[in-house]
Amino acid sequence: MGDEVVLSVGWGRAYGAELFFREQDLRGWNLILSYTYVRSEFSDHRVQYNRTHFAAHTRAGSLKQLPELSWNSNPGLFRVFFFVFCRPDQNELFMNSFVTMNRIAIFVAAIAILSLSFYPVRVHGDEGLRVYISVDMEGVAGVVASDQVRAGGHDYSLARQWATLEANAAIQGALDAGATYIVVNDSHGGMRNLIASEINPAARLITGSPKPLSMMEGIGENFDAVVFIGYHARAGSFDGVLDHTYSSASVYSIKVNGQEMGEAGINALIAGYYGVAVVMVSGDEVFCEQARSLLGEHLVTTPVKQGIGRTAANTLVPSRAAELIRENTALALNGRGRATPFRPGPETSLEVSFLFSSQAQSATLIPGVDRTGPRSVAFAREDFIEVFQLLRAVLLIARD
Ligand SMILES: [Zn+2]
Repeated sequence: MGDEVVLSVGWGRAYGAELFFREQDLRGWNLILSYTYVRSEFSDHRVQYNRTHFAAHTRAGSLKQLPELSWNSNPGLFRVFFFVFCRPDQNELFMNSFVTMNRIAIFVAAIAILSLSFYPVRVHGDEGLRVYISVDMEGVAGVVASDQVRAGGHDYSLARQWATLEANAAIQGALDAGATYIVVNDSHGGMRNLIASEINPAARLITGSPKPLSMMEGIGENFDAVVFIGYHARAGSFDGVLDHTYSSASVYSIKVNGQEMGEAGINALIAGYYGVAVVMVSGDEVFCEQARSLLGEHLVTTPVKQGIGRTAANTLVPSRAAELIRENTALALNGRGRATPFRPGPETSLEVSFLFSSQAQSATLIPGVDRTGPRSVAFAREDFIEVFQLLRAVLLIARD
């Protein structure tokens, strides 16, 4: 709140009807009465239209998700009345032209209202190709050790340059494919890894943490495609470089509706919730294979290194990785019609297995989280964003 730039991922639409009444000779008076009713609606963070906009944005959940929704100044409901009274016998010539002008004015107003009625309008934002890029770090070319991806660690300053290079390559690929709006979300650790001053100014950068949607903060149904850069294999993978799922210190595995998934799968479900497909991913070979088997064969993958165990790799050098990421991002975006969103079902159950039983015990302090084994908990919700938020709470509380 304040005077910061407001970017909306919401949609708005309006519809209405007009009643028109005209009495030409009412005891010497000419009466025209027009009643126009317009209803204005805005989507919330769940992409559901709210009939009463103001009620929607006073909900704490919506405010936290998208505070900018409250900046839409359009009222939820408004009415327009026209009353025109004329005395034709007082000045026939003047009044005839006056009535004609009013008829034209009302006709124009009716056309304007009707055109509002049938076309959903985007509240803010540009038309054209809109691309969302989430950038993790363990899957960046050249990165093999945890101190490279920890702020203050050895070679961290180099690794963040490589991550920035790969982010820029994806941005350039998106521009090659005609993107008009690009958002890059820094998605690793404290989420302040990408060097803002070196990011291509054609993109916007989401940086810092915590963020409600974390690695997917800023995604919305107004994007056309999602790209994952620098992603890694899920916890417990053969030869997955720095394989883990959210936390190497606590998570053994995560299952979504019984299927084991890593960060990429869960983030793809968030994108799918908003109806957006992941079209291109980059990371190590094992990660790319996992992503393709989960998201489908149309997913374009860019393997930038081959793991030799967990902390060594045969890797492309950063400049070559960047070339491939640029080419493949453009290729994937041009063929994005083939990709389908990875949509969550009507209800999602999620099970987390921890490294230690004490972590599972801590997680059950959260209402609705059930213990399913010595070191596992589970929960289910209809709304996938709620599932994701509950997962984050579980991971936070079980961290120690
Ligand atoms: Zn990471």
